[in-house]
Amino acid sequence: MTISGNPEITLYNNPLPKGCELCRLGSKLVVFISGECGDSCYYCPVSSERFNKNKMFANEAEVSNLMDYIYEAYRMGALGAGITGGDPILAIDKVTSLIRIFKNEFGEKFHVHLYTSGRYATNDALRELSEVGLDEIRFHPLKVEYREALKKAMKYDMDVGIEIPSIPGEEEKILELIKWAEKEGVKFVNLNELELNERNFFQLNSRGMNVSHGITGVKGSFETAKKVIEEFKESRITVHYCSSVYKDVVETRTRFLRTIRVSAKPYEDFTGEGTLIRAIVRTNQNLDILYGEKIGDNVYSVFPGITDELVKKLDIDELKIVEEHPDSRRLKVSEKVLKSNFEP
Ligand code: SF4
Repeated sequence: MTISGNPEITLYNNPLPKGCELCRLGSKLVVFISGECGDSCYYCPVSSERFNKNKMFANEAEVSNLMDYIYEAYRMGALGAGITGGDPILAIDKVTSLIRIFKNEFGEKFHVHLYTSGRYATNDALRELSEVGLDEIRFHPLKVEYREALKKAMKYDMDVGIEIPSIPGEEEKILELIKWAEKEGVKFVNLNELELNERNFFQLNSRGMNVSHGITGVKGSFETAKKVIEEFKESRITVHYCSSVYKDVVETRTRFLRTIRVSAKPYEDFTGEGTLIRAIVRTNQNLDILYGEKIGDNVYSVFPGITDELVKKLDIDELKIVEEHPDSRRLKVSEKVLKSNFEP
């Protein structure tokens, strides 16, 4: 058996878990169900805005009710969802209701995976999750006691795996955990590149960990994962390394391109980076909205390719080109004002 993937982006020894395969297609909705967690890992990647807060996000957008996840799943043409937190099992009622809604709305094949530390994964919680159709559960057993939860989960009809950060210098600890997992029949182990963020940077820096490549990946994390995967290249258990670059750039970009394919308006153009381009026109004259739509008093959103023609034909007060993310937040990436006589 060989190791597949692109060095420093993603490496794996065996076929990937289904949840990861769908993520690579940009087809997994990211469900952040609540930031509440009973643990406090020094490397925790959850931002201050979310950690220990009872907030929900669908992909990058904050949402207020479970149906918002369904709207976002439609917007991106999702084939599945990954439920994360905090520890989602602390919000078990919301999680089970949401999985039921997903399966009713999109069918049994809509693939749902969930992350948990295992701390609260009782038999009752796992049975409930399995009964509503959870397909895959990923544990982050930061304490040896939490491993019991994996053994319990394997009694139910769902794929059971481990997902942990690849911490530089912790090869021996990771090897021991994977050997244990292989012996117990765990299906896969995902090693995430350790990421530095605004919340954990002090803790990581004080342990001598700094950024290596990309924007957030910690130096030595890839090398640790590579050494570990090499040890398991002939094994049955899947060991898979996923880099921060992959998550931030490839997965997000693929998801954005998918969202554009499914939900962009006919007059919106797009870039290879997965952003949308449109022109905003302000005019008192009547604009043929064949190439756009009216979005306010005397304001139109139109196809950017017709702006030269519009300038020639109409008396325009303001004309600008905007570039935005295609998800529901419509985060503005750039704005180029081509003409402005408008005083707000
Ligand atoms: S278990 Fe997960 S969410 Fe909770 S502190 Fe650790 S890394 Fe953060």
